[in-house]
Amino acid sequence: MKNIVVAKFGGTSMGNAQSIRQVAEIINGYDFIVAVVSATSGTTDQLIELGEKALAGENWEESFRELVEKHEKIIKELEIDLDLSPYFENLRKLLQGISLILELSLSAKDRLLTFGERISSQILAKLLNSEAIDAYELIFADNNYSEGNVDFEKTEKAVLARVNPTEKQVITGFVAQSEEGHYITLGRGGSDYTGAIVASALNASELQIWTDVDGILNTDPRIVSDAKVLKQLSFLEAGELTYFGAKVLHPKTIKPAVAKNIPVKILNTFNPSAPGTLIKNDEEVSIKS
Ligand code: ADP
Ligand code: ASP
Ligand code: MG
Repeated sequence: MKNIVVAKFGGTSMGNAQSIRQVAEIINGYDFIVAVVSATSGTTDQLIELGEKALAGENWEESFRELVEKHEKIIKELEIDLDLSPYFENLRKLLQGISLILELSLSAKDRLLTFGERISSQILAKLLNSEAIDAYELIFADNNYSEGNVDFEKTEKAVLARVNPTEKQVITGFVAQSEEGHYITLGRGGSDYTGAIVASALNASELQIWTDVDGILNTDPRIVSDAKVLKQLSFLEAGELTYFGAKVLHPKTIKPAVAKNIPVKILNTFNPSAPGTLIKNDEEVSIKS
């Protein structure tokens, strides 16, 4: 089997038409690759706000229009022929339902939040002329809405049956199927986790996490301005860093990669030639953060 690469692109990489073009350019540098995508930047927060407004019986139409227009602008600028209206009609109906009964169950909220990734994956797949796969078909969890616990055995079977790693395919991050057959999400920032779950199921040779910084820094760049990129970290060190709050990697992410000993690279979509941070099973005894 050739080298299978799973590459996750975060919301920062899916921010606007220009950055999505950049993502497509990175993907097109490979003969085949499995891409896992987040929602476009800010979209999950917008969906949460829409749900809150509908639940409170407030006017959500204006914010809804903003969300639609944001995506229509991206599609126009990318010059792709993509009709997202079935998704938006579905989303509108869901919001109408919430505002009618003034109730939002955890399950309905998760369904609401999945629209971001389901839409962004369609956009990227269209641009690449490739297939988008809804992770509802691939990743199986329990009924713990908003933070689904994954059934790895069932998931691995589904991924192996459905994903062809020798093509270019796009998978929705963050999204899974609950035990009772509804949409469920894997927790905020969960697309990193999706990437690791898919990489683990495919026994990938590498998991790439593409974001907006040159790698894992020895401190949060928003707090300390001269933060330095860490070239290499062990799984243990990376796990500790993310556990203690480095937002760059979702804390659970590392686990499926560790279990299969899959190296993880943190890379910058906006500076793709930078070496990034390599996380692998290599104990280095040094204090890095
Ligand atoms: P994405 O949308 O790609 O998932 P995130 O916003 O989740 O991106 O994570 C990337 C951000 O994490 C960076 O822009 C940076 O501001 C922040 N960050 C916090 N701590 C660290 C750290 N130690 N190293 C790198 N980035 C960090
Ligand atoms: N879109 C989701 C979030 O904002 C998941 C992710 O981006 O990783 O939390
Ligand atoms: Mg993230």
